[in-house]
Amino acid sequence: MKIPFHDIVICGGGLVGASLALALSHLPLDICLLDPAPQAPAPRADDRTFTIAQGSKRALTTLGAWSRISRQDFQPITEIEVSDRAGRFGFTHLFADELGVDALGFVTGNVALLAALYGALGETGVTLRRGRFGEITRDDKSATVALAAGEKGHQLKCRLLVGADGTHSAVRGACGIDVHRHDYGREAIVSNCRVSAPRPTTAFERFTPDGPIAALPIGDDRYTFVISRPDAPEWQALDEDLFIDRLRATFGDRLGRVLGASPRLRFPLMRQHAREWVAPRVALIGNAAHTLHPVAGQGFNLGLRDVAVLADRLAEAVRAGADYGDLAWLRDYERIRQMDVANTTRFTDGLVRLFAPRLGPVAIARAVALNLVDGVPAVKRMLAVRTMGLKAPLPKLFRGIKP
Ligand SMILES: Cc1cc2nc3c(=O)[nH]c(=O)nc-3n(C[C@H](O)[C@H](O)[C@H](O)COP(=O)(O)OP(=O)(O)OC[C@H]3O[C@@H](n4cnc5c(N)ncnc54)[C@H](O)[C@@H]3O)c2cc1C
Repeated sequence: MKIPFHDIVICGGGLVGASLALALSHLPLDICLLDPAPQAPAPRADDRTFTIAQGSKRALTTLGAWSRISRQDFQPITEIEVSDRAGRFGFTHLFADELGVDALGFVTGNVALLAALYGALGETGVTLRRGRFGEITRDDKSATVALAAGEKGHQLKCRLLVGADGTHSAVRGACGIDVHRHDYGREAIVSNCRVSAPRPTTAFERFTPDGPIAALPIGDDRYTFVISRPDAPEWQALDEDLFIDRLRATFGDRLGRVLGASPRLRFPLMRQHAREWVAPRVALIGNAAHTLHPVAGQGFNLGLRDVAVLADRLAEAVRAGADYGDLAWLRDYERIRQMDVANTTRFTDGLVRLFAPRLGPVAIARAVALNLVDGVPAVKRMLAVRTMGLKAPLPKLFRGIKP
């Protein structure tokens, strides 16, 4: 049987893989997006919310995805309040208008984002294929992907395989790429709650001795709480009333009373880096390459920057008539991206460690805001000094141009 051929197979149709498929869809390439469920999730699936930086919003707009998110499904953040739980350092606020921007960032849901990406993908020629990656074999010119057990006999051939299959990437494993991993010994509990005194455009970051708590506005009287805890399984098992009591005792009552809480989701917290991001005929992006603590809301934002840089490199190779799966092109992507990721990881890791001592909330707030407003020229210049990776020109998607 003839093995189906695609120029590029993207393994993993989460936020990052779906974004890359869209970013490449206008190029003269046959793209296949492979995922066990390559579609928008059901509305009550993983309903986490994400902070989206200004630059990421611009990239999503360029991809034709942002305009598909209805106004009630995203919330601009105009103020961030940062404090420790005991108020030892007091409270610090950051305001968008002080920085001369309309919003410090935006909050939107995983479900709304994926629905927007898959809605846009539906209007492209990208092949959406249901299946789970199993193994890879490679020669000089191509890679052959075998689907996992239960899907035997199914193979795909491509010039380049992109691993966008998340923290436990099977593509990374099949290529023998090792990781550095640090386990924070905590998990994040996520719950969407209704509160009695909402401040719909204010986000909160509380640094408590047990770990940080973020409260992100998601419209009307609703907030997503992301609570980092060493005893997360216990918190997840609490009934709603007890959970609300604990939340109030930990977060305080800046948002009034908590009126109701959705069932809690639980996520392990780790910092992980693939030792290499590319191999012959293979590139890793998003969580497959790097996973970090969600305290500063940077994981997807970083993944989108991987997408933009990889798409630029691939587009340039295609236009030059070069072999875009060649390691030399891929190494360029790795080199450009690793500095930004290393700096952001250091910053995020630092935030987790310093919730009590060295840095007060003023510095933390400034740092959080700097990361959120990465699309604003003046602030971006300051950020560039701190993170050398941003000295390079912004990739096209972040300038509003398709690669
Ligand atoms: C609690 C929490 C809050 C967060 N908040 C923010 C935030 O505010 N802002 C932000 O920017 N980031 C945030 N993040 C980080 C963000 O969730 C991730 O960075 C992002 O989802 C990574 O996307 P991804 O597509 O790389 O991986 P994933 O979302 O893990 O997607 C991987 C995809 O690969 C598929 N897959 C897996 N194995 C295979 C296989 N063998 N074959 C084929 N397909 C496969 C899966 O089905 C899935 O669709 C948060 C993370 C957590 C845990």
